[in-house]
Amino acid sequence: MDLNEAIEARREDLIALTQDLIRMPTLNPPGRGYREICEYLRDRLAGSGFDVTLVRAEGALGDSDRYPRWNVIARREGARAGECVHFNSHTDVVEVGHGWTVDPFGGELRDGRIYGRGACDMKGGLATSIIAAEAFIATYPDFAGAIEISGTADEESGGFGGVAYLAERGWFDPARVQHVIIPEPLHKDRVCLGHRGVWWAEVETWGRIAHGSMPFLGDCAIRHMGAVVAEMEASLFPALALKRTAMPVIPEGAKQSTLNINSIHGGAPVPEEGYTGLPAPCVADRASMIIDRRFLMEEDIAQVKAEMRDVLDRVAARRDGFDYTLSDMFEVQPSMTDRAAPVVTAVSDAIRKVLGNEPDYVVSPGTYDQKHIDRIGRLKNCIAYGPGVLDLAHQPDEWIGVQDMLDSAKVMGQALKTLLGCADAK
Ligand SMILES: [Zn+2]
Repeated sequence: MDLNEAIEARREDLIALTQDLIRMPTLNPPGRGYREICEYLRDRLAGSGFDVTLVRAEGALGDSDRYPRWNVIARREGARAGECVHFNSHTDVVEVGHGWTVDPFGGELRDGRIYGRGACDMKGGLATSIIAAEAFIATYPDFAGAIEISGTADEESGGFGGVAYLAERGWFDPARVQHVIIPEPLHKDRVCLGHRGVWWAEVETWGRIAHGSMPFLGDCAIRHMGAVVAEMEASLFPALALKRTAMPVIPEGAKQSTLNINSIHGGAPVPEEGYTGLPAPCVADRASMIIDRRFLMEEDIAQVKAEMRDVLDRVAARRDGFDYTLSDMFEVQPSMTDRAAPVVTAVSDAIRKVLGNEPDYVVSPGTYDQKHIDRIGRLKNCIAYGPGVLDLAHQPDEWIGVQDMLDSAKVMGQALKTLLGCADAK
């Protein structure tokens, strides 16, 4: 039996595995069921000859005794020395939301699709990588190097209790792992090289509280914030729209710099639920705006921050009493793996060979765990590659196609042949 036949022969196993994973409601936040899914993966992979370690990200952001951040890392040594290929999947899923017509944790199989929260993002990808690795090991027991499979926590909330924690402790050290494939749902014929950068910040404007019947005695922080938004509309948004990147970002709209105003709050806090009275008449002495700026390889983060500060300083120059604070919350540098990197060429060749078409090279508009592997782990040879339709992620009636998973498993298997020294790889 050749490798593709070995993968086809595991069709029922792949379906059952994907269903089992979907049926574990690993919702994040708050981070439910990590231990359960890690133990399930441990039992599965130990049964296929992997050495398995469970690691709790103790003390990481989000970790608590009630919601511990468990991760699983499995390693299978080959018959001789060589390089290590690591498949990393996050085990968490986002909230269910409204609009489902199937049980979000039922794993229903219908017309060749498996439905459920996390089906495409990314339990289907995780199952695909496991089937690819198991079929590869069975077909080429004398392979060189090693295969690792990890299931990690918290990707949907920044990955600090997952890949970041492991990377800080050397699990992605280039001395022990040489190639990383993250089976996020980018589609079976696409190689995702990286992602844009992120800067989250909070802008606060300050005023002075007074009685609402005499606002002239106070100074309204909300009006100041309105002036900030007006200046952003006049100067910043048009400037961002003109910045275009050479990165192959998808979708098209994300090939420019973007900024989302995530929230604005000002004045008295929202009353507690059940409060039926009126608000007290006060002039707002504080307003806050959270901004989510996505930037390009061609931009420098210091410049990105300076642009926003310039907006605020322009407002300050023409507005009496204007006082602001600008605070960093979170930042991620853009990441883009070279097209000539070995994991890129191996997966690209595998797509050509298995699917018979040219791979598409893309960059993700948002970040994923590659940031930690790149920045903390110092490992540049990393891509996202996996089955599924990205647009379905986080949507109701999320699904993954069984044939897409099988095709993608064949691509992964073919890439393993190339990277792990199998004689008939070409
Ligand atoms: Zn994901």
